[in-house]
Amino acid sequence: MKTINIIIFFIFTSILAQSQIENYVIFCGKFFNSEKAIFEKNKYILATNDKVISVKDEYEPKSNDKYLDLSDYTIMPGLIDCHTHFLHNEYFNGKTKKLEIDSLIFQNEDYRNQLGEKNLTAYLNEGFTSIRDLGNSGNFLEKEFKDKNAKDFQYPSIYSSGKGIVFQRGQFPKKFEKYEQDEYLIIHDSLSIQNAINQLENEGVDLIKVYADNAPNKELMPPHLFSYIVEESHKRGFKITAHAIYDRSIKNAALAGVDCIEHIYGISDATMDLIREKGITVVPTFEDKYSVSKIIKHAPKNKFLLRIFMPIELKKNRKLLKKLHDNKINICTGSDAYLDDRVVESRGKSAKSGIYCLIESKIPMNEVLQMATYNGSILLGEKGKIGQIKKGAYADIIAVKGDVQKNKNLLKEIRFIMKRGVVIKHE
Ligand SMILES: [Zn+2]
Repeated sequence: MKTINIIIFFIFTSILAQSQIENYVIFCGKFFNSEKAIFEKNKYILATNDKVISVKDEYEPKSNDKYLDLSDYTIMPGLIDCHTHFLHNEYFNGKTKKLEIDSLIFQNEDYRNQLGEKNLTAYLNEGFTSIRDLGNSGNFLEKEFKDKNAKDFQYPSIYSSGKGIVFQRGQFPKKFEKYEQDEYLIIHDSLSIQNAINQLENEGVDLIKVYADNAPNKELMPPHLFSYIVEESHKRGFKITAHAIYDRSIKNAALAGVDCIEHIYGISDATMDLIREKGITVVPTFEDKYSVSKIIKHAPKNKFLLRIFMPIELKKNRKLLKKLHDNKINICTGSDAYLDDRVVESRGKSAKSGIYCLIESKIPMNEVLQMATYNGSILLGEKGKIGQIKKGAYADIIAVKGDVQKNKNLLKEIRFIMKRGVVIKHE
């Protein structure tokens, strides 16, 4: 009798569980295949719970399917911003007339946590379903958000480096120098490197960030210590990325054997060749038209040189981005967006700069979208899980209304967002 009751109980609970499973069937008028970087037509995506079950050319919907007709939309994997600082904030200070770090982020942890919450929500609302956060996040404050995410995925998936490793000092101006101990891991020799990497490993970071230079300050990571950091990080299974602005520091990073280089503003042709030969990925974090216009609009009135030079820089940067593309450098999109919402509309909107700087450089849309999805998944070691809509991948799916190849501005208006199988936006 007891056994029968148990059997009945299991049959009942399994029927109940099945009835609670949401089977989504999404019909896609236009579908972006991120691995091949091609647009396909008339596909059905089947998603159950948090995963994509299959992508088919034909499908007969069943009565319990949740059918979503996105025949007028372009459907693509959720975007990945490969360079964020969601717990950092800068704004134009009316008194000093400079772009400055929001000192409240150092002094008030609650304020910083609210900022993080706001920025992550803004990211997801703009279609970023994954982010790669590169520090300036206090004493591993990003961990709390990652822990919350593990329960319900209310934020984009967060992959983080925690504190970056710097030589002698960090990037802050003199008046914020006292906070550098909290924001960076400052190293001087091989023993301090060991301690730094031990701490990062204990804190559960996903990758390691090292500063090849600490611009706008002057220190460069010495090559022998740089190689040691890379060697130790690789030994423990971490990918390592370098912040590098100048040609000299970009070259140092490449020679030390990093996996990825951020920013690369000052790269020379010779260093570009070196990066291609070594198969290093780059995350160029250039401004787009939108962010330049916002900066110019909000810059103090005496900053007339900025108004003259920013548009000139913008043109120069576009040429460099096109050159990287034409030279077959592996690119991932990253925004390095950290401007306060008083300057830009929201962190999510300003983070599109990492994508639009490439689109405005006349790189074809299919390739830019691949850089913003598939390439990011490889960089994060998450191939097949994010950045792709295929069997077994997380159901992180976004859509714009219309044809994104015909109207490039559509990426600024994400109309459909599914995060791990949950529809959070459908307009
Ligand atoms: Zn950055």
